[in-house]
Amino acid sequence: MMKFQWLLLLPSLSSIFLFSSPAEAARLLLWRFDANQNQLVFTTDDSVQPKAQLFANPNRLIIDLPGTTLGRPTMNQPVGGAIREVRVGQYNAQMTRIVVELAPGYTIDPQQVLFQGISPTQWSVQIPTPERITTTPTTTSQPVVVIPPSRTSNPANNQTETPTPTSRLATIQAVELVNEGTQLAIRADQRVRATSRWDAKANTYQIIIPNAQLAEQVRGPQLNARSLLSQVLVRQQDRRTVVILVKPSSGGQIGELNQLTDQIISLQLRPSRPVFPPTTSIPVPPPLRTTPPDSFYRVPNSRIVVMIDPGHGGKDPGAIGIGGLREKDVILPISQQVAALLQQNGVQAVMTRSDDRFISLAGRVQMARQARANVFVSIHANAISLRRPEVNGVETYYFSSQRLAEAIHSSMLQSLNVRDRRVRRSRFYVLRNNSIPAVLVEVGYVTGAEDAPRLASPAFQRQMAEAIARGILLYIRQNF
Ligand SMILES: [Zn+2]
Repeated sequence: MMKFQWLLLLPSLSSIFLFSSPAEAARLLLWRFDANQNQLVFTTDDSVQPKAQLFANPNRLIIDLPGTTLGRPTMNQPVGGAIREVRVGQYNAQMTRIVVELAPGYTIDPQQVLFQGISPTQWSVQIPTPERITTTPTTTSQPVVVIPPSRTSNPANNQTETPTPTSRLATIQAVELVNEGTQLAIRADQRVRATSRWDAKANTYQIIIPNAQLAEQVRGPQLNARSLLSQVLVRQQDRRTVVILVKPSSGGQIGELNQLTDQIISLQLRPSRPVFPPTTSIPVPPPLRTTPPDSFYRVPNSRIVVMIDPGHGGKDPGAIGIGGLREKDVILPISQQVAALLQQNGVQAVMTRSDDRFISLAGRVQMARQARANVFVSIHANAISLRRPEVNGVETYYFSSQRLAEAIHSSMLQSLNVRDRRVRRSRFYVLRNNSIPAVLVEVGYVTGAEDAPRLASPAFQRQMAEAIARGILLYIRQNF
């Protein structure tokens, strides 16, 4: 059904060949897991309809992107906490697989995993907060209940039945755990047959034995904390039917029901841990918008090195804005995320500084030279007098690399609700003295009433980083 819907959404017939021709498969361009919001986002360069399942042991959410290639080795993002890590790899020639692995002892409710396709190429997955797997105590008040035969009960049930002489009924003499607790054996004094039914809602397995009655002193199994069953209920359903209800423990799973001999029925029990069945499929609705946006991000598998240069640092805080907001504190996290996004997209990113330290302007240019960088992007935040809070917006400076500046600047304007303070030519040291394409991005005004609060927000910093990274990737795609 899902597939059918998807086909209807295809923009053109030719796209169907995505699946049959790996050479024309979509590419996973960008993915990112935000550990603070438990949100996974990914972008492809062509339409994809993800499929998702929750697997057990270890508990993990698996998102498959049919018809999508990664074009890179498997990548891991360690997360820590209840979500151990996120892995992205090529599952087979035509499918990329994203695995969100949970820490041992944790699971998630598959019904709370929410997929949203902003478009066929842009998806976000909201993952619920992982829950601890609660091992239900196996020593419940009455683990074994044997309801002895009540010869007078349920007369109504028997009204329509042909009376059968009691002598012809099999007598169930024992219901017990054997083979080190891996089998529940039901013993009768003569030939018995049984049918069974799994009640998923009640997590209960029902064994129905017709033409049988319980012995007066029927023995029930001995259950303990390590048993694969948490509850056994043995009862005379009606005069000719015995019903045995068994509940697996949190460490147990019900296997097959076998006829061991004419007189013995055996229920196989297996150790296991899943709280949910081993695999639970998770529905993924079709994307909200049916047409993909212009494809960007695609980067050929090249050896491009991008130098990301967070301005200032250490003794030099850069501009100081509203509420003491410091430029160096805003631009370092943005720069780090730009570098990470580039790495995730197959572009090598190097940083002039990845922590709070001072580096001279000449030192920054020299580092780019030593790293044999192909592109240099300096990231700053702007300032004007604190009495000018009305001045807000992004500016991108270049000395000789206008196209790089335009690519980054338009990406910021497209994806962020920011004011356009234009692309400008400037003789900044790091621009003039770099022999490679170099630009300086001013991500907003720390003195601006609009800009300052959002520059301080991690969510905005992330969006800014994504916009800058996208612009750089677009430039690389078009120029290398
Ligand atoms: Zn600056």
